[in-house]
Amino acid sequence: MQSRVSVILLALYTFLFLCGVDLFFWHEECGANTGKYKVVTKHTSLVFNSREDMVLFNNAIDYEPNTSLSDFFSSSNSLDQEKELIRKVDLLFEKVQAILDMRKRMRKVRVRLFSNSDQLKRAYRKIFGKKCHIRGWYVYDFNTVFLNVRDVHEGMLAHELGHAIIDHYLTVRPPRATAEILAKYVDKHLFDEVKTY
Ligand SMILES: [Zn+2]
Repeated sequence: MQSRVSVILLALYTFLFLCGVDLFFWHEECGANTGKYKVVTKHTSLVFNSREDMVLFNNAIDYEPNTSLSDFFSSSNSLDQEKELIRKVDLLFEKVQAILDMRKRMRKVRVRLFSNSDQLKRAYRKIFGKKCHIRGWYVYDFNTVFLNVRDVHEGMLAHELGHAIIDHYLTVRPPRATAEILAKYVDKHLFDEVKTY
């Protein structure tokens, strides 16, 4: 029985391979799953190369909508930094949902954070087969945002998470131009009060 299952799986894999479908390895190759340090939040899964990169990313994301006095005495302990980052990313994610008025349960968005722009550019070339001229992007097929911890800010993260939310909210994904207009609106209005219509 077990060998029959193996044969079926092998046949299926061979068929997909012959059709040029090799998404699993492609995904691994471009580094979406191969990070060394992972932080799981309510809405996202953040994949870093190291704990140091997590601290850099935490410092780069300036998002404290309800800052209390105790927040001014930020800790240098990396465990506290991780907790702070989790809180910020989830608050930011929910703010993006509120701005777009697109609140729907969805799979956690994977955020792959590279250590430098060379790594980011290499990943871009592997995925798209051309030179990278952008600082971050989102791939629907992998449900993954790609960013560089040394060149990122809260607006960029909000923009890319916006793409993930927009692409998953509607039954049919909107045209790329429409999605881009909405994502740009998100990062421009990240700190504004949410409008109700
Ligand atoms: Zn965009």
